[in-house]
Amino acid sequence: MVTDPTIGVLALQGDVREHLTALRAAGVTAVPVKDAAALAAVDGLVIPGGESTTISMLAIRWGLMAPLRQAVADGMPMYGSCAGMILLADTILDGRADQQPIGGLDMVVRRNAFGRQVDSFEADVPFPAIGEPPIRAVFIRAPWVESIGVGVEVLARVDGPRGDRIVAVRSGSLMATSFHPELTGDHRVHALFADVVRHGA
Ligand code: GLN
Repeated sequence: MVTDPTIGVLALQGDVREHLTALRAAGVTAVPVKDAAALAAVDGLVIPGGESTTISMLAIRWGLMAPLRQAVADGMPMYGSCAGMILLADTILDGRADQQPIGGLDMVVRRNAFGRQVDSFEADVPFPAIGEPPIRAVFIRAPWVESIGVGVEVLARVDGPRGDRIVAVRSGSLMATSFHPELTGDHRVHALFADVVRHGA
C-alpha cells in the first residue's frame, strides 16, 4: 500500500493542467512528467486528453516511449482519458499509420469513433465504481472501446448518438475513459484512480 502517493501527469501535450488540478482536488500530490527521471519518481501516471498522434510522436522523439512501456510492464498504475485511452490500447483502429500506442490494456479502441469536433457531446453516464449520481461525461472527438480481452472490466457504457458503447474500462492497475472527467469539476474518477494507486490492482 502506498499511503501518500505522488501521481504524475504525462506532460507532452494535452490538458495537463486540468488533470493536475483534478488529482490535487482528489487529495493526492500531482506533478507533471516530461522525462524518464520524472516518470521513475511517481507512483502512478495519468495520460491526458489531447491528440494521441502528437503525444505518441513526442514520446518517441523525447525517448519516453520505451520507459513508458517498461513502466506498464513493471505494473505502474496508469489512467488514460480520451487520447490517453487510445495510447493505453493494445490495438488502435483509425489511428495514423505511424501512430504507436504505449499499450497495456487488452482492448481495441476506435479513434474519433463518435465523429469529429462537431460531433462532441455530453451525457450522464452511470459509473457504478464511483457510485451515484451518474457522471457528466464530456466526449470530444472521443474514441470508444470496440472490444475487450479477457480480464478487462467494463466500468461504464454510454447510450449515445452512435448506440450503446463501452466508454470506461479497467484491467488490473490500468484504467481508461473515452471522456474527460478533468473538465467537469467532478473528481470521483481521479479519486478512484488514486485508490488504485494506493492499493494496487
Ligand atoms: N481524437 C483525439 C485523438 O485521436 C482525442 C481527443 C481528445 O483527447 N479529446 O487523440
